[in-house]
Amino acid sequence: MKRRTILTLLVVVLATALMARPKPKYIFYMIGDGMGLNQVAATEMYLAECDGYIGRKPLCMTSFPVTGLITTFSESNGITDSSAAGTALAAGVKTTNGTLGLTGKGEHYKTIAEQLHQNGWNIGIMTSVSIDHATPGAFYAHVTERSDYYTVGTQLPESEFEFFAGATFYKPYLENKPEAPNVYDLCNKAGYKFYHGYDDFINNGVGADRAILIQKHEGLENTYLGKGNLPYAIDRKGDELTLEQITDAAIVFLQKKEKPFFMMVEGGQIDWASHSNDAATVIQETIDFDKAIRRAYKFYSEHPEETLIVVTADHETGGMALGNHKYTLNLQLLQNQKASVAAISDRLKKMKEEKGKKLTYDEVKALFQETLGLYDVVEVSKDDDAKLRATFKQMMKNKAHDTKTLYASLNALAAKAVQLLDRKAHIGWTTGAHSGAPVPVYAVGAGAENFTGVYDNTEVMKRMLKLAEED
Ligand SMILES: [Zn+2]
Repeated sequence: MKRRTILTLLVVVLATALMARPKPKYIFYMIGDGMGLNQVAATEMYLAECDGYIGRKPLCMTSFPVTGLITTFSESNGITDSSAAGTALAAGVKTTNGTLGLTGKGEHYKTIAEQLHQNGWNIGIMTSVSIDHATPGAFYAHVTERSDYYTVGTQLPESEFEFFAGATFYKPYLENKPEAPNVYDLCNKAGYKFYHGYDDFINNGVGADRAILIQKHEGLENTYLGKGNLPYAIDRKGDELTLEQITDAAIVFLQKKEKPFFMMVEGGQIDWASHSNDAATVIQETIDFDKAIRRAYKFYSEHPEETLIVVTADHETGGMALGNHKYTLNLQLLQNQKASVAAISDRLKKMKEEKGKKLTYDEVKALFQETLGLYDVVEVSKDDDAKLRATFKQMMKNKAHDTKTLYASLNALAAKAVQLLDRKAHIGWTTGAHSGAPVPVYAVGAGAENFTGVYDNTEVMKRMLKLAEED
């Protein structure tokens, strides 16, 4: 062969290699529900303050080389709900608030999980809330009302996806229609095996064809966990199931089949804590979600050419702001909070039930001291003390109505105490609902560069699918 021909050949080979489209074989789609830019920034600045400096201590997700911003409005509203946002992220279409997996006109689009499954990929859908909730549901269900949790659940086994995980099902049966099949039975019939907790799964579930990993249920009665969620990271005890364990379980389970895999991992309770305007819990949930991301990143480090990780959010919740007073933040104060507002509320309700009229304000103060550091390391002014005492008096007359959030009914006094701590940390909240703010995208791995820029939430799935599809 002539030297010139060899040279030409070399150039062609090199050019082809350079032009070859990165083709991920393993995709992690990680969604922090309600995780706006400030939820992330507050977490990083909090971690820095706890280490004694002003600045940011980077999370794993923000260390990714590619960042983008996505708009989140829905077809019907400037401020989306989780079902319309989930549908945009999963199926690439805008829909109306409340609709899950269908357009506003009821048209049915295949989600990225359904399309890849059809192409022979293994699929995992995981969350820290209930598996029939809006974000996980958006990947396998198609219903006109996201609140129809039962129907969402019944559609899960129809997906035939290999792996699901979450706290449990929120509505596995219909109270008013006992003859309707229960979701657990439907899943069993479709060949799914249930595993309770990480150890049960690792010891018994790895060889199953289809698996559903849920939490153990003992000891969860009479707590805020009635909506089928995992305990918040800030409240976690013992060997309670974590999102990091769920991610690890999915990697073990989906990888052994030697096929490509796609998994969606939702940090579902950044949203719930933001609905409750509970900054310390938001921060701990964000750190916890980042641990799941770190687990995915470890997998990426072992398969860098074939793995794509995209982290984003469905919307921002709470209108969380860094600053409510001059030019000061005091985020490290949030270290003193040892329980979520939901857990503090549970304890206060229980104290009131048990002690009745004998409950004293000193006992409540002791609770706030233990769980929030108030009246101890966190100073409470005379004014603030008077306000808390006034709410206590109202509560004792049964006139302090619960503060209702989307997913919780919080004791008004517990909510006020946490509001006080957040105010002193100089965190602001504009709403108990969602906001219309754009949300971040962080990406690393094969094809990650496609996720830079400012674009719409419907684009994420389209760009991901394009990378994953056959040539
Ligand atoms: Zn959401």
